[in-house]
Amino acid sequence: MPNAEAQLAMRDADARHHLHPFTDTQALNSKGVRTISHAQGIYVWDSEGNQLIDGMAGLWCVNLGYGRKELIDAAHQQMQVLPYYNTFFQSTHAPVTALAQAIAEITPGDLNRVFFANSGSEAIDTVIRMVRHYWTLKGKPYRKLLIARENAYHGSTLAGASLGGMAHMQSQCGPLLPGIHHIRQPYWYGDPNGISEDEFGLQRARELEEKILEVGPDNVAAFIGEPIQGAGGVIVPPRTYWPEIQRICRKYDVLLMADEVICGFGRTGQWFGSQTYGFQPDIMSMAKGLSSGYLPISAVAVGDRIADTLIAAGGEFTHGFTYSGHPVAAAVALENIRILRDERIIDAVAKDIGPYFQNRLREVLGEHPLCGHIEGIGLIAGLALVKDRQSRIFFDKDIGTLCRDECTASGLVARACGNRIVLSPPLVISRAEVDELVNRLREALDRTY
Ligand code: PLP
Repeated sequence: MPNAEAQLAMRDADARHHLHPFTDTQALNSKGVRTISHAQGIYVWDSEGNQLIDGMAGLWCVNLGYGRKELIDAAHQQMQVLPYYNTFFQSTHAPVTALAQAIAEITPGDLNRVFFANSGSEAIDTVIRMVRHYWTLKGKPYRKLLIARENAYHGSTLAGASLGGMAHMQSQCGPLLPGIHHIRQPYWYGDPNGISEDEFGLQRARELEEKILEVGPDNVAAFIGEPIQGAGGVIVPPRTYWPEIQRICRKYDVLLMADEVICGFGRTGQWFGSQTYGFQPDIMSMAKGLSSGYLPISAVAVGDRIADTLIAAGGEFTHGFTYSGHPVAAAVALENIRILRDERIIDAVAKDIGPYFQNRLREVLGEHPLCGHIEGIGLIAGLALVKDRQSRIFFDKDIGTLCRDECTASGLVARACGNRIVLSPPLVISRAEVDELVNRLREALDRTY
């Protein structure tokens, strides 16, 4: 552990030189930054020696937990053999080719070809460019509009922020990318007017049809959505929602795009959230859990319909990144997929640890005076906090502060999204660790109440 003087020097250097993402730097500097020094399993430690359960798996990404030797070895070995080579000019290398094949094998349907990038945001930009180009190649260059949802998060590049539905993400970067429309999210919190959850799911899905008709079916390129909205607070759709969305997309020949950056790689109990919610995307973005966050890598899995058109047209798709298919990141991702598969980790999320996590949350926190309702499946959950359970008035204090101060004091990393606390622990969490996580959260809520 660094001594007190070294810690102060580091804080000072950070305050003077480091601009953190998504951070109020003034507020951060007045409180002082927390340094995370090391991690193992589901735990992280700060430089003052405090042990915290990482209830967020980093940023929804460290699916295999920290310290997996196989992932470290895969990176080490690949560094020695070939630390970098591009995949642009008629070249490839073994890890990226094997990874493309592995992704084609685990993705559903005919998502047989894979385009690589480095972050979820880049994957989203790739999807936008690809689907718009697809329609041009199909002789329908007017099909350029994209439909997404309010409160969606699709990254923080200009295209990602424009496609996402978060006003605070958009207000600082305008003018936004044109040609994007939003419909409402399928957020169900019971219904005082007596409508059932299934009916609500259908109603919200049909807002897509209304939007398509409003802007003209011939102008729409694609609909995009996260199977479960993650950064929006873990908004779990009614079971009826996605099949109806798919039906509408097929009816109007609108491409269906799943953003699996959070849901992918086992979080909902299947490889991909679209499998859990029963729909087949034409194109899919993935990142985070693809490498369990050990190295930056993202991918777009492309269905035959789009890929065949791109290829048959001939000519270059003028898009890519220096680090597309980076060999070291690809080697780690490949090993990550092997472990998820060989250790049957996703099965356990579906049948054992996922249901256990969801039950314990409800048993221990379901009746807590601050807990309005709990949504989740597998190892992802959102707790909507309320001031008053009866009247369903949402908590009006800053939940970011609650997470930072109270959860941390209880030894838990949790995150605030709007009026919710969200959780997505590593998929390798044990039952005893789930108990500990839930107890720590209860302690934090008790202190707040
Ligand atoms: N899409 C979704 C659904 C996400 O949750 C995120 C990030 O949280 C992104 C895209 C953007 O990914 P990145 O931060 O790697 O650019």
